Amino acid sequence: MKKIEVMEKITAKVEKCEKCRLCKEAKNAVPGEGDINADIVFIGEAPGANEDKTGRPFVGRAGQLLESLLGEIGLSREEVWIGNIIKHRPPKNRDPKPDEIAACEPYLTVQLRTIRPKLIVTLGRFAMYYFHKGGKISRDRGNLIKVDSKKVGSVLNVYPVYHPAAGLRNGRFREALEEDFMRIPQILKEIELEQVQNKNSSTYREEEQKGQIKLDL
Ligand code: SF4
Repeated sequence: MKKIEVMEKITAKVEKCEKCRLCKEAKNAVPGEGDINADIVFIGEAPGANEDKTGRPFVGRAGQLLESLLGEIGLSREEVWIGNIIKHRPPKNRDPKPDEIAACEPYLTVQLRTIRPKLIVTLGRFAMYYFHKGGKISRDRGNLIKVDSKKVGSVLNVYPVYHPAAGLRNGRFREALEEDFMRIPQILKEIELEQVQNKNSSTYREEEQKGQIKLDL
């Protein structure tokens, strides 16, 4: 199955999904959007009110800050892929519960296996925990972490930063976000150099590299 077909199938499944309670109160599913061939993906926690209204990720004030941060490193949102670990909005923006994260997990797993990004930038602590359980955002933000993901089938390059919403609330977090974003182009170059040195353009499993992704959702 081609990449675009897999991504469209995931979107269709997410839109009809009733695997957890979150679909009951949400208006729209937010499967994620952007360039499915992007080198960099940005992963947040869950949709908020604006995202629930539109079905699109990061479209409120936090999304505007994300776009501005991307602009500072010469990227637009169309040139990256943006998604969340949870695809339906938790009521009143409460934290997602462990069973909800577990129920939703296969969707992002298959999305990542399909896109095969070189770099995964996690926005906020929940998105970081998803990949790096023992992480601490104040310590680990702005540091590249190698995560051997059995589910995705690759050693992932995970780069945690604060959530843009935290940057809107607190000037100190905003400065940290700007600093961490400015390092993204250099981090990407280092990953690409490492892949050339390893004579391997990707660490993803063979079936993902050949585009033979199984849609086991
Ligand atoms: S949040 Fe995820 S698991 Fe829960 S209903 Fe939505 S798509 Fe399904």
